[in-house]
Amino acid sequence: MTDFSATKQKFELPAGVIYLDGNSLGPLPHAAKDRVAQTVADEWGEMLITGWNKAGWMAQPSQLGDRIGRLIGAPQGTVVLGDTLSVKVYQAVAAAIDMVPDRKVILTDSGNFPTDIYMVEGLIKSLNRGHELRIVSPEDIEAALTADVGVLMLTQVDYRTGRLHDMAALTKRAHELGIVTVWDLAHSAGALAVDVTAARADFAVGCTYKYLNGGPGAPAFIYVSPDHIANCAPALSGWLGHEAPFAFDLDYRPGSGIERMRVGTPPVLQMAALGAALDIWDGVDMNAIRAKSIALSEQFIHGIEATCPMLRLASPRDPALRGSQVSFAFEHGYAAMQACIAQGVIGDFRAPDIMRFGFTPLFIDQTDVDRAIAIIAKVMNDQLWDNPAYQIKSTVT
Ligand SMILES: *Cc1c(COP(=O)(O)O)cnc(C)c1O
Repeated sequence: MTDFSATKQKFELPAGVIYLDGNSLGPLPHAAKDRVAQTVADEWGEMLITGWNKAGWMAQPSQLGDRIGRLIGAPQGTVVLGDTLSVKVYQAVAAAIDMVPDRKVILTDSGNFPTDIYMVEGLIKSLNRGHELRIVSPEDIEAALTADVGVLMLTQVDYRTGRLHDMAALTKRAHELGIVTVWDLAHSAGALAVDVTAARADFAVGCTYKYLNGGPGAPAFIYVSPDHIANCAPALSGWLGHEAPFAFDLDYRPGSGIERMRVGTPPVLQMAALGAALDIWDGVDMNAIRAKSIALSEQFIHGIEATCPMLRLASPRDPALRGSQVSFAFEHGYAAMQACIAQGVIGDFRAPDIMRFGFTPLFIDQTDVDRAIAIIAKVMNDQLWDNPAYQIKSTVT
């Protein structure tokens, strides 16, 4: 059984703050501070360039990838880290398109995160082979799986509403029609029990700075099914995905297995922080995470609905259809969230009117949720949000 009071002790959580935004940026693990300081002083400082070999920096993208693999049901040697999620989306969709050369449609839903859509639009433009990005509403995805679709690209958990797609069922239906699947696990990895192997996902990508707590700018990950990797020609053919980077050959030959999805120099300091964050995950059972996440979000929904009639639930009511976040719609949502943050409850706002709260069992417990409900109820019922200072929009919302 996972001991969540022990995992909570492993994070720096500022006094007086209830952090319901670990779905956007996970908090700092105590150990990450020391690990990064140590990497800077003992490795970069002392070893200089020999750190690539002596401290094993070069092997870390696949070693950390394997540790993330356990959290998403991926076998060893099928996940590698690097770049940002936007770049990994591009790589995965490019490889998927190559697998179905006679089909021109890439299907996604309007709940997808915009960068995923933008990256595919850019990819289509540079390929210039007549591909089309078809965007339908999330509830119409199943019906939109038709034989002209080549690639289905979906984010499993909707960043705004938390609505959860059935990865196994949609992948099965897609495969029946010869469609290749790319799953974005940005709001799934570390949030719920994911099993890319059981779901038979072809490609999966995700980030490590949200539920996995790797820190701002932590590298993304990519999974490629072992059935496909040998036939994937990387669209971003960087030197570290080459079979022999230090042969410095002038012709590109893809590296073995998932290594070919590497591009350039990995972010060593970010990986040090991520390594410390993943130590916390090592003892964690994903079914226990899911059970506690559901308990906390149910507690939150009941508490808010009982005290804040002006807020409208924008997430699915059935927890089985939800990821690990809960959203409420409110006309003055931006100002209301600023007021909540000023009172110590940190969530975030997504345009046009969504107040979003993430439930991360590693460091949020029942007492935190009770306190958060009381504070939000005060902000809403006393209209503390009705203050010009809370109307000013920052760059990051
Ligand atoms: C957070 C998120 C991203 C972010 O992409 P970056 O390149 O890491 O900035 C992309 N896609 C989805 C679905 C996300 O939730």
